[in-house]
Amino acid sequence: MPPLKKNGKNGQKKKLTEFKFNVDIRTLFIVAFVALFLFFTFQSLSKAAKQVMPEKSITTIVKEVKQGKIKKIEIIDNKILVYYSDDKLAIAYKEASESFLKTLRDNNVNLDKINVTIKDTQASAGLVNFLANIIPTILMVAFFIFLFRQARGAQESVFSFGQSRAKKFSKESPKTTFSDVAGVDEAKKELEEVVDFLKHPDKYKKLGARTPKGVILIGPAGCGKTLLAKAVAGEAGVPFFSIAGSEFMEMLVGIGAARVRDLFATAKKSPPSIIFIDEVDAIGRARSVGVMPSHDEREQTLNQILVEMDGFNPTEQVVVIAATNRGDLLDPALLRPGRFDRRILVDYPDLEGRKAILKIHSRNKPFVGNIDWDKVAKRTVGFSGADLENMLNEAAIQVAREAREKITVQDIEEAATKVKLGPEKKRLQSSLDKKLTAYHEAGHAVVSHFLPHTDPVHRISIVSRGMALGFTLIPPAADKLHETKTHLLERISVMMGGRAAEEIFFNEVTTGAANDFDQATMIAKAMVIEYGMSNLGPVNFGPNMDVTQMGRAYYSENAISQEMMAKIDQEVKKILTEGYDKAVLIIKKNKNILEDVAKELVKKESLDQDEFEKIVGLKTKK
Ligand code: ADP
Ligand code: MG
Ligand code: ZN
Repeated sequence: MPPLKKNGKNGQKKKLTEFKFNVDIRTLFIVAFVALFLFFTFQSLSKAAKQVMPEKSITTIVKEVKQGKIKKIEIIDNKILVYYSDDKLAIAYKEASESFLKTLRDNNVNLDKINVTIKDTQASAGLVNFLANIIPTILMVAFFIFLFRQARGAQESVFSFGQSRAKKFSKESPKTTFSDVAGVDEAKKELEEVVDFLKHPDKYKKLGARTPKGVILIGPAGCGKTLLAKAVAGEAGVPFFSIAGSEFMEMLVGIGAARVRDLFATAKKSPPSIIFIDEVDAIGRARSVGVMPSHDEREQTLNQILVEMDGFNPTEQVVVIAATNRGDLLDPALLRPGRFDRRILVDYPDLEGRKAILKIHSRNKPFVGNIDWDKVAKRTVGFSGADLENMLNEAAIQVAREAREKITVQDIEEAATKVKLGPEKKRLQSSLDKKLTAYHEAGHAVVSHFLPHTDPVHRISIVSRGMALGFTLIPPAADKLHETKTHLLERISVMMGGRAAEEIFFNEVTTGAANDFDQATMIAKAMVIEYGMSNLGPVNFGPNMDVTQMGRAYYSENAISQEMMAKIDQEVKKILTEGYDKAVLIIKKNKNILEDVAKELVKKESLDQDEFEKIVGLKTKK
C-alpha cells in the first residue's frame, strides 16, 4: 500500500507542473494574438489617415513653407506631416535617404520660423519586427517542449525495451486468497494443486511427477480469472509477476519477445514464483486466422513464450498462469503438453455461487435489516462476479449520495438494473411517446405472462436507460443448463409482444422494436443453424466446431449451397412470423388487461412484480 500512495503523489505533482505549462502556452498565444491585432490596427489606422489627408509633393511644401502658410512640420520616417496655419493637414513622402531638413535648408528656409519635429519610429518599428520574428520562434520552441514532454513517457518505454513491465508483487503482497473467490469451485480445486506444488515441490519430485508448468484460465470477463491467479500466489505465498498480453504489442517489433525473455528471467531469479499473462489471446491468437498488421510481432512474442516454457527444467518452480476470454482463438501450439496443458474454465457463477460472491462483497457494507440474499441471487441470473461486486458498490454509492446510513433492497434492485441496462435517463418525453412506450412494454409483459413456460415478469419501466426507451425484465428464475425449443419459441413471442401491441392499439408501428427483432432473429437463426430445431432437421449449418479446443474455431466455413441458404432464411422467417402471430393472438385476447397495465405504467413509470400481478393475476407456470 505505501508504494502506491507514493505513486499517487508523484502523479499529482506531475499533473500540477503540466497544468502550469499549459497556462504558459495559452498566455503566449494571447500575447501573440494581441500583438498581431495591434500591428494590423496600426497599419489600417495609418492607411485611414492617408486617405483623409491630401498628398502633396515636396516642392509644393517647400514653396508653401516659404510662403508662411505652414506652422508646423512633423517628420515621421519618410512621411512628412504638414500642419497649415488654417489647421488643415497634408502629407508628403520623401526618400528615406534624403533629409527633409537639408532640403529646406538648401532652399533657404529659415528654420527658426517654423516648428519642425522629427520622430524616428525606426526604433519602435524594429521592436515590432523583432517581436514578429521572435513570437513564432517562441511558439515553436514551446510547442516542441510540449511535444517532448508528452512523448517522454513513450520514450522511456522505447529506451527500456529490455525490461518487461511485469509488476512485481512482493512475497506478502498479494493478500488475495481463495476465500476472496467464490462460485468457481472446480477452478479452485484444480488450482489448489498448483498451490500445493509451489508449497511442497519435493513431494512431487520424489514421485517423479511432471509438475504443472502452464495453466490457462478461460472464461468470460469479470468472472474472476485475475482474482484467481492472485489468489494462487497469495495462498502459496510466492511472488507474482503479471503482464497483460496487450502490453506486449507495442511500437517496435521485437520488443514483445524481449519483454518475455526479461519477464521469465526475472521470475526465475526468485523461485518459486508465478508469472501471470493476462489477455493471452492478444498474443496467442491462432496464427492461421487472417493477416493482422502486427502479425510478425505476435508471432515472435508467442514463439518466445513457447521457447521460454520449453526451456524450463522440470525442477524449476515457476508456474505460468494465463487468462483469456477467447478460448476459441488460442493458438494450438500454446495448448500442447508441457506448455499450457491445464485448461480451467472460469464460468458465470450459478445461484449458490452468486450467493457466496454476494456474501464476500457485502462483508464491509451496512445493510438495512436482514436482506434476503437468496432473492437477490435469484434475481441476478447471468451476472458475473464483477457485475455483482459492481452492483453492491453502486448501491453503496447511491446511499452515500443521498446521505443515508444503510443500503436497502430497493437500492440493490436499482443498482442491479443500472449495472445491466445503464443509468436512468430522465428525458423529456411527449405524452404520446410515453403512451407508445407504455403499450409497447406492456405488450412484452402481458404476452410473457400468458405464455405457459416463461418466467414471471420482474419489472417493467418506461424510464429510458442507455439506448432503451423502456424495458421489461424477465430474469430466468433459475440457472438452466438446457433451453427447450418450446421456451425459445415463447421467448421469441415475448420479444414480438412490443410491436404487436403497437399495431393493435395504435394501428401504427414505431422504431422502438428494432432491438427486439434483432434478438428474436438471433434466437431463430441459432435454432435453425445450430440447434437443429427446424424442419431442416438435425443438422448444424454453422461454422465447424473444433472439439480439440474449447468453443468454436472459425477456420473453415461449411460450404452451404445457395439453395440451402435460401431454405435457412425461409425457416428463420417462419419461426419469427409464427412468434409474432402468437403474440398478436394473446394480446387480442387480453386487450383490457394490457390497457390497464399500460395506463398504470404511464401513471407510475415503473411497475414491480407485485404491482404487475395485482393487475394481471398470479403467473401460472407449467
Ligand atoms: P476477469 O479477470 O475474469 O475479467 P477479475 O478477476 O478481474 O475478472 O474480476 C474483477 C472483480 O470482480 C474482482 O476483483 C472481484 O471483486 C469480482 N469478482 C469476479 N469474480 C469473482 C468471484 N468468483 N468471486 C468473488 N469476486 C469476484
Ligand atoms: Mg482479468
Ligand atoms: Zn421492446
